[in-house]
Amino acid sequence: MKAPDFDYVRVPTLAAALKQLDTDEDVRLLAGGQSLLASLNLRLSQPQKLIDISRIKGLAGIVKKGGFIRIGATTRHCDIELSPLICKELPLLSMAAPHIAHPAIRNRGTFGGSLALADPAAEWPACCVALDATIVAASRRGERRIAATDFFQGLYATALEPDEIITSVEIPVTPKGAVAGFSELARRHGDYAMVGLAAQGTLLKGRWSTLKLVFFGVSDRPLLAEDAAQKLIDGHGVKAVQNCIGAALDFSGDDVCSADTRLHLARVLLGRVISEMESKTA
Ligand code: FAD
Repeated sequence: MKAPDFDYVRVPTLAAALKQLDTDEDVRLLAGGQSLLASLNLRLSQPQKLIDISRIKGLAGIVKKGGFIRIGATTRHCDIELSPLICKELPLLSMAAPHIAHPAIRNRGTFGGSLALADPAAEWPACCVALDATIVAASRRGERRIAATDFFQGLYATALEPDEIITSVEIPVTPKGAVAGFSELARRHGDYAMVGLAAQGTLLKGRWSTLKLVFFGVSDRPLLAEDAAQKLIDGHGVKAVQNCIGAALDFSGDDVCSADTRLHLARVLLGRVISEMESKTA
């Protein structure tokens, strides 16, 4: 199908984008267009006007500031994938990036667009929760910071207000000695994950002292498996923890995969990811 008619404006500054968003009726932001244009073509969405924010100066880029990495909202997936700074300071993102769709989509799709879309099977939202990221949103009313754990509120639902734009994401650099783990299962490489797991933790003398485990593709948002992580920190074996994740987390089923299958696959991934992380520190 073809997209319905819409007006298009490419804005040069954040202020211009915020003004349009605040004053015009029925507008949508356009970043990489990798999700929005498909939804227009399928007539799932029919906005009057698209505001193209992809060329706003200062909205793209990766910089280190103190103990944080700041990733601009319009930074493309491929720029994160190929960044030596990300590889050194946030290895979890480097591990996750190649799993996002295909190179052509990673060349255009943006970090902020993925977070704003909040697809529950997307990689970046889960990584942001695992890494304690803070999402920075701007509106004409000012700027606010939202913890990633509070940002994702349901299926394609976020804490963003209609007049807000994600401008950047701030992520604490990976602490010395910490290891990252990532794995996902998809029907074909490049498809959205049926089940995925993003993790980061610190192993001291064979015992986990910190651990974040975030499943994605299993529910309406990234699921932080706090109980499972705490059990591993308390010294329980992986097998015992694999057995208990179904009780603490709510897995959903769909046409692709039943809830029971998702739970089984999540247990498999937990075993794989923990064993890989442990072998990195051995
Ligand atoms: P757009 O499509 O431009 O926008 C998406 C939504 O976010 C729109 O509602 C837009 O208004 C809003 N938005 C964009 N930027 C901002 C901002 N800065 N502030 C507020 N709102 C904003 N993604 C994955 O994570 N994993 C996959 O495996 C995967 N597979 C894919 C396979 C295919 C075939 C396709 C077409 C896409 C796939 N994607 C996947 C999605 C892709 O990663 C998109 O790039 C991403 O989800 C959206 O980013 P975008 O920049 O293209 O956003």
